[in-house]
Amino acid sequence: MKKKNCIFIIFLSFIMILSGWTGKKPEPISETHVSENEQPEHHSNLTVQVQKPVSFWRLQQEFPNIVVIRGIGNKIALTFDDGPSAKYTPQILNVLKKYNVKATFFMMGAKVSKYPYIVKRVAQEGHAIGNHTYWHPNLGKATVEQMKWEIAETEKALNKIVGIKPKLFRPPFGSLTREQTIELGKLNLTTVMWSVDSNDWKQLPAEQIKNNVLNHIHPGAVVLFHDGGHWTQDLSGTVEALELIIPKLQEDGFTFVTIPQLFHL
Ligand SMILES: [Zn+2]
Repeated sequence: MKKKNCIFIIFLSFIMILSGWTGKKPEPISETHVSENEQPEHHSNLTVQVQKPVSFWRLQQEFPNIVVIRGIGNKIALTFDDGPSAKYTPQILNVLKKYNVKATFFMMGAKVSKYPYIVKRVAQEGHAIGNHTYWHPNLGKATVEQMKWEIAETEKALNKIVGIKPKLFRPPFGSLTREQTIELGKLNLTTVMWSVDSNDWKQLPAEQIKNNVLNHIHPGAVVLFHDGGHWTQDLSGTVEALELIIPKLQEDGFTFVTIPQLFHL
């Protein structure tokens, strides 16, 4: 190497050290975490937060015609997410039938395609069906276009099997941006969150799931359960808990209704 080039490289290195260049990419800015139980708060900077997920309590305040969380009256809506599953959905349907309860199932398109016979049974037995995306992504970290694809593919799957186009949508993890919420309004979809979380996805024993529900129940409650999940997930606690929860609330004078009935949709 010529002496002139060598001096140039040393000079360049010196400049780079001085300017703090390390060759690494900058760290991405982490997104706001949406807690399922985050309480309402006032926002002051709308434009900055457009692309970030917003707590569903806040979304409900801002878009009351698009987002619902809880109803009124002596009625309760039981909702089941992430199914259908070959193992648990039929067991849950059996319990619901035993107590003459109609519920709402937020189904994943991928599982609708996998278990068409269960989807048919859910529809035949008078339960409401909602859209819970195709692959269950965290939409708060996705684009509006990605959300629209997830919704459309699930609609196609449901239309093929039971000939319905759901009017109800529930985003996985309750996670949405403002931009997506506005788009859901344009798609004429009611976005259904929940007011009582059974936390059954944690594979809890029936007694604990029962307490999670009964300790927080209120008139007009929308209760979140799961009838599907990862294939290793044990939801037997959910099935057993329903046997404890439903008769108790019926004794207390509550009527079980579907989401369209609760919100007059
Ligand atoms: Zn889900």
